[in-house]
Amino acid sequence: MNATSDAGIRFIRHAGEPAVFKAGWVIKDPETILENAGLAVAGGKILEVLKHVPEDRPVVVDCGPGILMPPLVNAHLHLELSALKNRLPLGKGFAPWVAALLRERDSAGTQVLVRAARAAVRSLPDLGVGLAGEVSTLGITRSLLSNEGIAGVWFREYLGDGHDIPDLDPRSFLSVSAAGHAPHTTSPDRLISLKHQTRAAGLPFSIHVAESDLETDFIAGIDSGWNDFLAARGIDASFWPVGGKTPVGYLNALGVLGPDTLGVHLLQVTEKDLDILADTKTFLCLCPRSNQNLHCRLPDIRMMLKKKLTPALGTDSLASCESLSIFDEMAFIRRHYPGIAPADILAMATKNGASALGLGLHYGTLDPGRQSNFIYLDTGTVSRADILEKVTSYGTG
Ligand SMILES: [Zn+2]
Repeated sequence: MNATSDAGIRFIRHAGEPAVFKAGWVIKDPETILENAGLAVAGGKILEVLKHVPEDRPVVVDCGPGILMPPLVNAHLHLELSALKNRLPLGKGFAPWVAALLRERDSAGTQVLVRAARAAVRSLPDLGVGLAGEVSTLGITRSLLSNEGIAGVWFREYLGDGHDIPDLDPRSFLSVSAAGHAPHTTSPDRLISLKHQTRAAGLPFSIHVAESDLETDFIAGIDSGWNDFLAARGIDASFWPVGGKTPVGYLNALGVLGPDTLGVHLLQVTEKDLDILADTKTFLCLCPRSNQNLHCRLPDIRMMLKKKLTPALGTDSLASCESLSIFDEMAFIRRHYPGIAPADILAMATKNGASALGLGLHYGTLDPGRQSNFIYLDTGTVSRADILEKVTSYGTG
């Protein structure tokens, strides 16, 4: 069992002999909260959720009066950019941020990037994050995640043209898959090819979509200088079938949406776009704090929930967000979206993220059969009426 973090979060992984972990409260899932309950675990899996823990039960670990709950899911981050924390201009527009990112990332060098990424990975359990959707353009973070026992999906991200693809590897622990960067940076042929191959392997495919004005204008066919930007990087976008579409509509026309696609950001979407995402059963991941910092704009979460979409949460990288904490992301949503039910916010941070990463049968709730990974929040005594309030406002948002 890990030590409790400064924030009072204890990450528990139990892979050994049968044991029971009990606490004042167990959140099995956002709709099921049990008082003075426990989890019977063995062999790395949850065997049973105990509504009462009998006195004579062997090997009982009493965590305390606080809350046992599923680990949080950071469904979208870029660990390789951790070294750029506080080194890029925020709130001054997206284009200057991108230019500074490319410059600073190149000048930092691989060693510095890897060192900061390793420290960031090691911080994840202390933040209560047990599952990650890591997106890597440089390909330098895969072993960092596996070495620290962080589960999830490692997406190798591709821009421009080309046919290379990583050795896809579907696993219940850390899968290896591929991501397209975005509709305006990755060629349509490459997007179709990546999607085809990840689908054949039964893996999720990730892509940033509908994030910036630049992207929306380019896909609509408005020349805002993006063609020149791509051309300067050796990418000929003159034959891309853009024009008269939204980014979501464009991806739909390419056939890359669907129940194994994870669209990230969805900041600039129409109601029709949301209907397309719902009809195609595409998963969503939202990064509201990053959006606020880079674009001074927030996704329409209320409309997404109204359309029965089930967004996951991510932080994006430390180059655009203050922390990799999903507790912080939940607290931010609580503050900026009054009226969204705490249970919906907790679902975004747990089971929606696990499903979005294709790992909903292994993580996301504390149901029997799921991995015996959970977190304990050292909240002290708390009443039933306050639990979801407490959990969703635990971070700094
Ligand atoms: Zn991102």
